[in-house]
Amino acid sequence: MTALADTQHYRTYKPKPLTKEEIGHVEILFGGLHWRAERVLQAVFENLGYKARPLPTATRADLSAGRELADIGQCCPTSFTTGNLANFLKNRAQEIGKENVARNYAYITAGSCGACRFGQYHQSYELALRNLGLEYFRLFLLDQGRIDQGAASGGGLDINMPLTLGAMWGILCTDVLQNLEYQTRPYEVEAGATQRAVEASVDCLSDAFRKRPNRGKKWSTLVWHLSTDYFVEALREVKRKFDAVEVNRLQCKPVVKITGEFYLQTVEGDPNYNIHRWLESEGAEVFPASIAVWLDYWMRFYVQNFEEYRGIDRYAGAKIAAVKAIQKVFHWTYNRLRGALGNIPHELPDQYELRRLAAPYFHHRLSGGEGDMLVGKALWAHVNKRAHMICELSPYACMPNTMSIGAMAGVVGKHPDLLYAPIEVKGDAEVHALSRCQMILTEAKKRAVKEFVDVMERTGLTPEEAQPLLDANPQMKRATYRVPHGGAAGTAANLLLHLAEANNERRAAA
Ligand code: SF4
Repeated sequence: MTALADTQHYRTYKPKPLTKEEIGHVEILFGGLHWRAERVLQAVFENLGYKARPLPTATRADLSAGRELADIGQCCPTSFTTGNLANFLKNRAQEIGKENVARNYAYITAGSCGACRFGQYHQSYELALRNLGLEYFRLFLLDQGRIDQGAASGGGLDINMPLTLGAMWGILCTDVLQNLEYQTRPYEVEAGATQRAVEASVDCLSDAFRKRPNRGKKWSTLVWHLSTDYFVEALREVKRKFDAVEVNRLQCKPVVKITGEFYLQTVEGDPNYNIHRWLESEGAEVFPASIAVWLDYWMRFYVQNFEEYRGIDRYAGAKIAAVKAIQKVFHWTYNRLRGALGNIPHELPDQYELRRLAAPYFHHRLSGGEGDMLVGKALWAHVNKRAHMICELSPYACMPNTMSIGAMAGVVGKHPDLLYAPIEVKGDAEVHALSRCQMILTEAKKRAVKEFVDVMERTGLTPEEAQPLLDANPQMKRATYRVPHGGAAGTAANLLLHLAEANNERRAAA
């Protein structure tokens, strides 16, 4: 009876107020993306007068802490991010005391309701902080479905349009930068030149976002973000930094498309066994996962919701048309930013093509995680010859990813030539996961070489004959020269096709 009487109803988490008077000395913590995006987001906060800092990239120690302090059965991204926040605060508490930690820091994270753990991250953080005696620490949720949430509890933090739009444009700019970087580094002539260009570029973008003009708090700021050349100009400056990087794209390398759960495919570090750098060190070109694809998917999700209401809601058709129009504007904006980098960053896949490709294997209304996109993106990259191999990063204990791996068995049955490496990430089985990836990568390398040889036979050009043609066109040796997609997956094969075509045109003109 006593135990029953002591039982309390579950109450959803509500942060203690963060007031306008306090915000001057409170540092806002955030994390969970790659370092380029996080640095630029820090600048977005600073632009709006906040103090902000990204958490350090999560480590194996954070994973262990997350498992210990919250729910051991939760998916590994939840454990990584929970432990990451908990360890940071614990270390700070040892230096300045728990009360000062609760007073001087707050944390902001994306959240939603939904079919998977993503809807419960903040509950996990709260449990971990309670277990650390930091229950007065404040966590704030950025609802992914609302771009103008207004002032959070206490009024000190305003999750308004300038903040949300700044974050969105910051993500788009760093997406295209990351794309350019990963198409450059594998072919750089001078080791380290790409890294230097990326670091200078992130400084340049951060500076631009820190100085972003104030254009009001409502629709005027949206109109400005959509119409301005401000971000395009900042990316043109980035392009100038990459202009100086010399590349040799005649090296035959397999292209590996990264897919998987959002957090694991986005971060670069222990949470995904440093897979990006590991693949490059093994001789691959990485096709990274752009965050913009997920934002586009999220819009498609609204369309799908409205589609269910056709015949019930008389405005369903108009709502679908409106969201599709927003998607078109989104693609147009992304393409403007790509254009500033010479159209080298990969284009966004069409969401309805992804849905169509995935449809025989995974229903588009199954939500949670990336839904049908894992299947759709794998098939998109395969049938459009954008990659030789798919590396899917699947978190331990992730329900949506487990479903997509099951569905991929059907895909591979129908497309036996699709090279697919699902890597289960649980933080402590790195050798096993990477050796599994290496087996498929070996096949991908053979595939890239065969493709290159086929192109040599078709064009009659060998690398030895291609080299003088390349030397005669020094602009083609710049990182910012775009090699058109000629129908091959590999960069070297596409370059050979491009050189052959240019050579034929020159001969015809002579
Ligand atoms: S998609 Fe999977 S790993 Fe990501 S939050 Fe949901 S359950 Fe966890």
